[in-house]
Amino acid sequence: MISEGARDGAPGATSMRTHLCGQLEDGDVGRFIRLCGWVSRRREHGEHLAFVDLRDHTGTIQCVVDGSVDARSEYVVAVTGTLRRRPEGMENPNLATGGWEVGDCEIEVLATAEPPPFAVEDRVDVDEATRLRYRYIDLRRPRMQANLRLRAVVNAALRAAMDRMGFCEVETPLLWSPTPEGAREFAVPSRLHPGAFYVLPQSPQLAKQLLMVSGMDRYYQIARCLRDEDLRADRQFEFTQLDMEASFVNQDDVLGFVSESVLDAAEAATGERPPPIARMTWAEALERYGTDKPDLRFAMELVDLGEVFATTEVRAFAAPQGARRHAVKALVVEGGASFARSRLDGLVETAKAEGAKGLAWFKVTEGDGVVGLDSPLDRFLSETERTGLLAASGAVVGDLVLVVSDEHRLACTVLGRMRVALGGRPVGEGPYRYVWVVEFPMFDGVDSAGHPVPAHHPFTMPHPDDLDLLETDPAAVRSQAYDLVLNGWELGSGSVRVHRADIQGRIFAALGISAEQAEARFGFLLDAFRYGAPPHAGFAFGIDRLAAIFSGADTIREVIAFPKTQSGADPLTGAPKALSANALADLGIKTTVPAPER
Ligand code: ASP
Repeated sequence: MISEGARDGAPGATSMRTHLCGQLEDGDVGRFIRLCGWVSRRREHGEHLAFVDLRDHTGTIQCVVDGSVDARSEYVVAVTGTLRRRPEGMENPNLATGGWEVGDCEIEVLATAEPPPFAVEDRVDVDEATRLRYRYIDLRRPRMQANLRLRAVVNAALRAAMDRMGFCEVETPLLWSPTPEGAREFAVPSRLHPGAFYVLPQSPQLAKQLLMVSGMDRYYQIARCLRDEDLRADRQFEFTQLDMEASFVNQDDVLGFVSESVLDAAEAATGERPPPIARMTWAEALERYGTDKPDLRFAMELVDLGEVFATTEVRAFAAPQGARRHAVKALVVEGGASFARSRLDGLVETAKAEGAKGLAWFKVTEGDGVVGLDSPLDRFLSETERTGLLAASGAVVGDLVLVVSDEHRLACTVLGRMRVALGGRPVGEGPYRYVWVVEFPMFDGVDSAGHPVPAHHPFTMPHPDDLDLLETDPAAVRSQAYDLVLNGWELGSGSVRVHRADIQGRIFAALGISAEQAEARFGFLLDAFRYGAPPHAGFAFGIDRLAAIFSGADTIREVIAFPKTQSGADPLTGAPKALSANALADLGIKTTVPAPER
């Protein structure tokens, strides 16, 4: 009989078990206990002795059976027996429970199991397609269990922080209408309105702004967002954001709210509270790191060689006539003088593929005690340029200096990518370096019709000092938009919103959105703003990305229970699949291509 006492207070005790495998304590020694879980391993020693390693979500414990065991790997069993210390010399220091075993066990099979397609162990390497096809088995592995539980810790810490700061959790619809975040949207056909579609929200952006008009004051939501864009390590079709919005606030207030919640989550997940998060302007991030998501775990800052080559005769480094903003930027690769020619050629090709006119390289060498440059371009440099290049870049013998001379932003971004490719490390590898990037440009280039493209979304407030440039020089307008970056990954973005119809009208005009188009796309928001919109601002950051980094993973798929593959398929359910002819008819839909066989 299981004594009631054994069950009292033990974490995880239920009517079927008294304890959890990984949470046994020395005080339990001598107790008659009952555990439930999966058979991790079974070893038989003749007919009279068998060992079963029993696993539940908290750990594994060795169970000793005087007899044979009719249960194979991954059978679900209940084990009753007495907890005892292992005989001296028989302890297993690699197992948290390795000092004990359950003796005199009886094993009851609760469910049989076919041999699993791969062993339920972290050490076993399995290709991702198989892992996703049998995700329910993959998730049994200790590492995946830990990842999902870490994610839950992050969620709980975020909720607690938001509640404490007076934010109210409100759920917003998934069946919605287009939201301007710049990605392709998923559409859902309406059965009741054949021919019409809902759109799955790219974010609750418009809904949360409506909630500000409603007087919710501080809103948040752990919100699912859907974007039909190419999948990669930090992107899935559906992802989860901590989404927030607040009224009567400015940028500093929002940065304060977000910092508080993220640092709380970091502390809960890693046991350490990071220091306050520093800020950097977008322009500075571009200048020093060649990106709007700088990885601050390593230096390798870009160097400006504009002065060195200001009056150069070297064609490759001279500013072309009429160039709007030309730059000569450099990146020093420590020890890169040893790169083989083929590797350097590869870098040149990469730079060209990214749009640069070229990439110059200089190996810093030494001969007869004289420091020099080894490069096809060296013979064209003047002595002043040669010493200037060395002095400005700080490169020493053995280093490689990569130089891009091009339009300023392009020169920076090409070298920024090389900086990460040559000096970076996996995103989940500590230390954790956060940074706020502020003062993003309002627009990001122009579209095919020549209209500026919003860098954030069209409801972002321009920087007050740049309002007058909206009509005259849109490319120079800074916005009140900000990003939070961790280890080179963009965690999230936000902005102070436009709540005044006159400024919104000017932004739409700059974007080439006519009053009629604005009315058709966002009329309901603009309507709402006519009834008293408070100044408001907000932010959203990716919980998948945050949890992935905290768990040391380099893709968000490792912290998502059922992610899609790179091609957007779900090998477990087979989605996306063809619909039956009847279902299509109900929706008023005719397909023009057959669904692919998979
Ligand atoms: N909705 C924005 C996004 O998903 C964030 C924000 O501006 O609040 O990126």
